[in-house]
Amino acid sequence: MERSDRIAELLDSLTREEKLSLVHGAMDAEGGATGYIPGVERLDVPDLRLVDGPLGVRVLEKAATAFPASIALASTFDGNLAREQGAAIGREANARGQDVLLGPGLNLIRVPHCGRNFEYFSEDPVVTGAFAAAVVDGIQSEDVIATPKHFTANNQERRRATISAEVDERTLRERYLPGFRAAVEAGAGAIMTSYNRVNGTHMSDHRRLLTEVLKDEWGFEGFVMSDWFGTESTVGAANGGLDLEMPGITAEEMMEAFGMPDQALADIDFGDEDALPTPETSGTRLFAEPLAEAIDAGDVPAERLDDMVARTLGQMERFGLLDGDADGDSRDGAIDTPEHRSLAEEIATRGIVLLENDGVLPLDDDADLALVGPAADAAMLGGGGSSEMTPFQQTSTVEGMRARAGGSVDYAQGVPEIESPSFFDGIFGDDEEGDDEAPDVDVDEAVDAARAADVAVVVVQDAATEADDREDLRLPGEQDELVEAVAAVNDRTVVIVQSSGPVEIPWRDDVAAIVEAWYAGQADGDAVSSVLYGDSDATGRLPVTFAPEAEYPATEPRQYPGVDGEVHYDEGVLVGYRHFDATEAEPTYPFGHGLSYADFDYRDVEMVDDDTVRVTVENTSERDGRDVVQVYVRPPAVEGADRPTREFAGHASVEVPAGGSKPVQVSLDDLAFRRFDEATGWTVDAGEYTVEVARSSRDVRAETTVQR
Ligand code: BGC
Repeated sequence: MERSDRIAELLDSLTREEKLSLVHGAMDAEGGATGYIPGVERLDVPDLRLVDGPLGVRVLEKAATAFPASIALASTFDGNLAREQGAAIGREANARGQDVLLGPGLNLIRVPHCGRNFEYFSEDPVVTGAFAAAVVDGIQSEDVIATPKHFTANNQERRRATISAEVDERTLRERYLPGFRAAVEAGAGAIMTSYNRVNGTHMSDHRRLLTEVLKDEWGFEGFVMSDWFGTESTVGAANGGLDLEMPGITAEEMMEAFGMPDQALADIDFGDEDALPTPETSGTRLFAEPLAEAIDAGDVPAERLDDMVARTLGQMERFGLLDGDADGDSRDGAIDTPEHRSLAEEIATRGIVLLENDGVLPLDDDADLALVGPAADAAMLGGGGSSEMTPFQQTSTVEGMRARAGGSVDYAQGVPEIESPSFFDGIFGDDEEGDDEAPDVDVDEAVDAARAADVAVVVVQDAATEADDREDLRLPGEQDELVEAVAAVNDRTVVIVQSSGPVEIPWRDDVAAIVEAWYAGQADGDAVSSVLYGDSDATGRLPVTFAPEAEYPATEPRQYPGVDGEVHYDEGVLVGYRHFDATEAEPTYPFGHGLSYADFDYRDVEMVDDDTVRVTVENTSERDGRDVVQVYVRPPAVEGADRPTREFAGHASVEVPAGGSKPVQVSLDDLAFRRFDEATGWTVDAGEYTVEVARSSRDVRAETTVQR
């Protein structure tokens, strides 16, 4: 790797001890950051502060804008919004004196149960790559280093620290690596490894993936850091390509940094023990004294230490972080600005997916409403874990609807609150624990309110957290029963689902409309009311397939959650909609599905060149709308190629006025044409590819062909 003169000079001047201090984290005297690398004062190398996370800046005990979950962002199918969200988070990181943002999360949504799916984008690698690249670009446009995570095959939280993902090379290349490659091509300055193993090797030690693929093949020049307590060895990791061990302090020291010095980590019940790194699966300060010894013993070349340091300092130089004041935080930032607030609202609104509508939506301005459900009176900020946010302000569905409604709005909770799980509950205590004193809730009260209203709106939620998976895809508690009870007395029942990913929808045929609002962040209630009243078109599309649990791929225990420490990716490349296409199973809602209040037609579909398709989108309705044009590629049948039926290739989000039309060009990702062959590498089979212009993976409206 080329080094600038400045980095070469620094390497010459740093003592070995100083170099070693730059390859692992340390205790942060100021506190608040998620990770901290002390600088070298003698040489004017400033400190480096690293902070979570994908949904907003998470400095301990400090508020920040709580953006919608990444899955909601991806549902907008608008990369510009992703870039803007990244940039806003970058500005907020600067305002908090943080240099490295620990995000975006971009593991592929392989199983719907995964507790962190809300932090990820999609079951499709092209969508994942597009959004990861846009977020990286946004964050780094503010001179904050982005950290795509968790590299790689961290597709479940259950047993995440012990499980080995057994994945064949083609599946890795076609599904689990492309998102990271796109993030690297977008210039990501850092990468975080995952806790799991891949084909038996711990990711912090994975020389083939970290060094041969990420660094040598893709040309990644940034630094690779471990997940927190996710380094397994000294020699293996150093020679494997890990550049920075995080957090570099013991769990007990971290508790002290959290202001909980007396809490013994061993006494804490974290739920799934195999989800947390233990002394057997990880170590602490493996890149401190043990690394010095390994270098002395000749087990790790001294140049490797130089390379680690050069990579981190090189990125600091690239983003101007070597030129800050002593604290390295001389850059301007902005936090909780009107622009950030309205961006959080715009993304939440644009990400809402209208799954079903018999015409009850948009609501009449003067309709009298009953709002029902345990999720209605708090904004849905996210799931549990390292992406949890504390916003400056938030709007619940009840507040958002009351602010907008022309008629009356009655609220009744109906069933007990759903506990929001978090692995932090083990550390900080569970806020919800005082719930014994929670007021009695009465389903009859909710049913009575629903009966008396013009429209009943039921707000339901799932419960997801890092470090664990959802047991099943049912809505927790008695929420399904609540929906049924309300739907039985009001045939104008609208259900708003606030979930981390797919949920089962057993009452689908009994209600008038269903809206997937995801974890919408601080502007939840305003976003929901804007779509319900039709102030905005319904513009979100599903970046994941919704289906009953048993219909998904990976239903055998060896596929998920794994047996004997291994999870076998036997479904291979048939992840998500590719599986449903192959089995011809009917999903509840297919990948790409989402209704609009307007109606669209496509005409004049033609290839502009080999990689670009043009289509005219016509709004045939009487209201302005926004459409997401989706393009899929159907490969030709080639003996032995064994391709999925169709592969998502590209998208465009376009606003079209009532009765108007607009030409749109969509560029097609090369990944949709290529396949990976273990013997020969990437191949594009010669032949005719069908290019489908669609409103979902199951709603193809027009097609053309292209030769390859
Ligand atoms: C998570 C990472 C996070 C880190 C620091 C880990 O538990 O897996 O995503 O960045 O903690 O909070």
